[in-house]
Amino acid sequence: MAHDIKNILEKYPDFKANIGIEIHVQLKTESKIFCSCPNNFGDKPNQNICPICAGYPGVLPVLNKKVVDFAIMAGLATNSKITQKTWFDRKHYMYPDLPKNYQITQDQAPICTNGYITIELLDNKQKNINLVRIHMEEDAGKNIHGTNNESYVDLNRAGTPLLEIVSFPDIENSNEAKLYLNNLKSIVQYLNISDANMEEGSFRGDVNISVRRSDEKKLGTKVELKNVNSFKFIVNAIEYEIERQINAIKKGEKIIQETRGWDSKENKSFLMRSKEEAQDYKYFKEPDLPILLIDDIWINNIKNSLPELPTQKFNRFKSEYNLSSYEAEILTGEVELANFFEQTCKITKQPQKTANWLLRNVLAYLNENKLILKNSKITVNNFAELILAIESGKINTSVAQEVFAQMANTGKSPNIIIKENNLEQIEDTQALEDIILNIIKNHPEEVKSYLSGKDRLFGFFVGLAMKETQGKANPKILQELLKKHLK
Ligand SMILES: [Zn+2]
Repeated sequence: MAHDIKNILEKYPDFKANIGIEIHVQLKTESKIFCSCPNNFGDKPNQNICPICAGYPGVLPVLNKKVVDFAIMAGLATNSKITQKTWFDRKHYMYPDLPKNYQITQDQAPICTNGYITIELLDNKQKNINLVRIHMEEDAGKNIHGTNNESYVDLNRAGTPLLEIVSFPDIENSNEAKLYLNNLKSIVQYLNISDANMEEGSFRGDVNISVRRSDEKKLGTKVELKNVNSFKFIVNAIEYEIERQINAIKKGEKIIQETRGWDSKENKSFLMRSKEEAQDYKYFKEPDLPILLIDDIWINNIKNSLPELPTQKFNRFKSEYNLSSYEAEILTGEVELANFFEQTCKITKQPQKTANWLLRNVLAYLNENKLILKNSKITVNNFAELILAIESGKINTSVAQEVFAQMANTGKSPNIIIKENNLEQIEDTQALEDIILNIIKNHPEEVKSYLSGKDRLFGFFVGLAMKETQGKANPKILQELLKKHLK
């Protein structure tokens, strides 16, 4: 979002940074990638396993076609080329959560290459972040470390389908990284192929960062930041790491290629392991799965069924509803919010008012209460009713705040809230006039000061009249009447 931009590089104009991001997106298929076990998050440990995902010898994996569909969707949505003859490879390493001692992934023939994601920079400029590749793979299980000094292995996650999306180091600062991540997250949510929830681990990022002096063409030595699990932490980690590397270079130290973690309490990165030599995974073609051929018909069918994507919706919101880039960016950031906006507009026919109330009040309320729209009591019909009540002058904007709060907390219709609490705006000129004359009569000293030039006192009279009407006076009529009688 445009209002909380950080860029540590502004402090160091002689330096540039290059950032590449690898994202693991957990796909929400019904079953796992190579067996028919359910692909569910949060079930009891080892409930969803079978001999295939538990890595028994002699069993054969069978590819879930849905995973390929989802990978093609992601590829088309990121302008990638789909590899029509592709296959899987084994990546060997030993870890307790990987009982086969190899992971089935794609090494030589990733399903998507040459893609890019467009980000919208502040000055209405767009920038493409190029993608190295998107490939399919299986997730490993999970080690759980108990408080009794014992560790457990939960294989529910083993065999969960993943897409690994790898960008080139085209990202130049933490703000671009955030825009890129937001965009990628929106894309997979719009495609409905993943929940992309960082907290639940369905959207996990590793970040490579290198810095160099501005006049230097060659990229600096990259440092990898592993498993940073929120957008905010990724931004903080990038800011920290850029400054750490710049200071090291300034002191004449050599940047070492290493893997670092992020300590979000201390707000600093720490060394996990140095990575002078690349690990050798002894990749080879997975002999238990056939070569995968993807024909044009398959690709075209998917192309024809793609939903409207974030960038298209963003551009349409700007032209169709006349919204600013900032407004369109937030409203299209989440498909649920975008749909809510459009459904409300259909009723209110007031896109700007609807956008204002959504961006200011609704989002603030959701944030404060740690809710998402879907789990809140705010409905399209009630929200539209509120906008119409303000628009028609039934309630004034300060009363509307109160009606909104009640509506959000109880799910009651605004019209009922207004009626029950007697909140309708007072537009009856005679009634307001009586109140004003009474106030003037009871405050002769203030009236005298006001008439002798203390203009500030006008607000005092407005305040008294508003108090008298419990905030329900039509502010415009009230001010006109006050001006008339304070002469
Ligand atoms: Zn299984």
